[in-house]
Amino acid sequence: MSIVEFRNVTKTFGPVVVLREVDLNIDKGEVVVLIGPSGSGKSTLLRCINALEEINGGDLVVDNISVKAGRSQVRMIRQEAGMVFQQFNLFPQMTALENVAFGPRRVRGLSRLEAVEQAKALLAKVGLGDRGHHYPSELSGGQQQRVAIARALAVKPKLMLFDEPTSALDPELRHEVLRVMQALAEEGMTMIVVTHEMAFARQVGTRLIFMEDGKISVDGKPTDLLANPENPRLREFLQHVH
Ligand code: ADP
Ligand code: MG
Repeated sequence: MSIVEFRNVTKTFGPVVVLREVDLNIDKGEVVVLIGPSGSGKSTLLRCINALEEINGGDLVVDNISVKAGRSQVRMIRQEAGMVFQQFNLFPQMTALENVAFGPRRVRGLSRLEAVEQAKALLAKVGLGDRGHHYPSELSGGQQQRVAIARALAVKPKLMLFDEPTSALDPELRHEVLRVMQALAEEGMTMIVVTHEMAFARQVGTRLIFMEDGKISVDGKPTDLLANPENPRLREFLQHVH
């Protein structure tokens, strides 16, 4: 049961080809860790999945909806695929609770009371039940990122996309975010995670994909690939992230 299907997808920015005829199927429940050199197209691949970027060739089907379908379908894709960014991107003028309650009111039509009750439960789930009334500026980076995860979950996505969620955090704050992501994976959430956290890839990932220059060059089991990276460029890459 594929939830994401890239069929010969090409993405260009002007003359620059960023995704080159990518074929990729991701099934429900997979935890895909996506790695590769800077500029290889990882963020663009994620952004195409939730239609933040338009593809130029091929087709991309998310939860049985083509990104090339009309506007209302594309809006549905955005609801199915929650995204978490490196820089948290919380609304600075809203409390943690308001950040989490905002999306479902607008997108899923929840009443204010329903949205607030759900937001409280989600903040508790990410370990921030006592921080609902704090503004982002009053929270640590790790706490802000956990609010961002709760906010993405509030819209009840079928798929979560993480773009270097711990890269902006000090090392001692990373594991609180990784723990929340691991719990989510253990609940069966389908996830695509761009990260340099190889311990997470090994322990939580069900699949590891190495991208180079807009193409998928290695795709396999994290434990196998990390123990024995046969591809010389993957081996070289891993020496630098360890
Ligand atoms: P990664 O996340 O692997 O570092 P990106 O997907 O961000 O790679 O970028 C891949 C390539 O696409 C890079 O060459 C980058 O400069 C280019 N690119 C990304 N976004 C844009 C954009 N909005 N306009 C022009 N070029 C872009
Ligand atoms: Mg990137």
